[in-house]
Amino acid sequence: MAMSTRATAAKAAVDVVATYFSRMQVVASDPDALVFAFGNPHEMALPGLPAAIRAHAEPRSVDWYAYKSSERSAQEVVAGALSGELGLDFEPDDIAMTQGAFGAMSLAFALLADAGDEVVIPVPGWFCYPPMLRAADLVPVGVELAPVTFDLDVDAIARAITPRTRIVVVNSPANPTGRVYPPSTWEALAAALEEASRAHGRRIWLMSDEPYRRIRFDGVEFTSPAAFYPWTVIDYSYGKVLLAPGARLGYLALSPLIPISDRQELRAALFPLGLAIGWGFPDAVMQYSLPELETLSIDMAELTRKRDRMYGALTDAGYELTRPEGTFYLWGKAPGGDAEAFCAALEDRGVYVMPGSLFDQPHQFRISLTATMTMIDRAIPHLVEVAAHRDP
Ligand code: PLP
Repeated sequence: MAMSTRATAAKAAVDVVATYFSRMQVVASDPDALVFAFGNPHEMALPGLPAAIRAHAEPRSVDWYAYKSSERSAQEVVAGALSGELGLDFEPDDIAMTQGAFGAMSLAFALLADAGDEVVIPVPGWFCYPPMLRAADLVPVGVELAPVTFDLDVDAIARAITPRTRIVVVNSPANPTGRVYPPSTWEALAAALEEASRAHGRRIWLMSDEPYRRIRFDGVEFTSPAAFYPWTVIDYSYGKVLLAPGARLGYLALSPLIPISDRQELRAALFPLGLAIGWGFPDAVMQYSLPELETLSIDMAELTRKRDRMYGALTDAGYELTRPEGTFYLWGKAPGGDAEAFCAALEDRGVYVMPGSLFDQPHQFRISLTATMTMIDRAIPHLVEVAAHRDP
């Protein structure tokens, strides 16, 4: 056998997504294809992004392009911004700079879990959790969100916890449902995790996956679970708010509420583990650019108009959709019930949306609203007609 069992398990957990990703890359090269599959940009990047990178590309010292771990200037800006956003006093030493949220999660898994530990993840949830966990020799334990509302089912999470559970992953605003969870959810979850940690004599960590934290509609407030459960780490990515997922920049933040003796132990592991996972730090220029990038965002008013246009037209046509409170995804029931058949009918018309089977939800589908308004306007008649020809 050529591959490790870990590689086989990780590959199996992501094979469907990987095949779909490769196919969409080919499809996206056709300028007439209306691709709503991944959260990729369909317009030129925000001018501030290349401007910041250009401003920091020219070396100012001989070590400008030396090996860089977490740059102090970046850690300070992140700690300040996070403190303002979440109302907790983050310290620069508790910020590890990473290659986006992907990198932050890999670091968190290495930091907190041992081989064979179980990690609770939401279902439906981001399709990269299972392969990432498998590749880290951890065991994903999917827990269904509440039907219809996609609220976090705290009782179901509590029931899924075993003596091997080490981390519970939560994601708000949530991919793919667009839900943003209120403080009452975090309060209930914190109580459940506290009780389970006590019952099993083992601390359960909370990993709050927050790459969409700044992408919210209609003034919906964001609350991080870090404010309710001290044993929390937060992962973040600039790739979403800049709509530039190829510019890899993010961080893992240790909550300032983690008792200081534990936090110091974790802090001391951030650099060695960042190195050990394959020099997981962002490129030097991305870190130098962070102060400028921290102030940039995609146009939320325009994204809101896109959400309203697509959501309004499809619900008028009889679609059952979850109205997103955040993220740039629209999640709903595939007309006719079979998402693969529904997506295939759309593909025949040059419209590509993501079947829910990628999220283990064969009756649902996801639309990425990162498409242009022109693409949305061109796709709507096809979405309406395909739905009209399928039983509800
Ligand atoms: N977490 C969730 C829920 C995501 O949807 C994504 C990307 O789609 C990530 C993490 C990873 O983000 P990034 O590619 O910016 O590291």
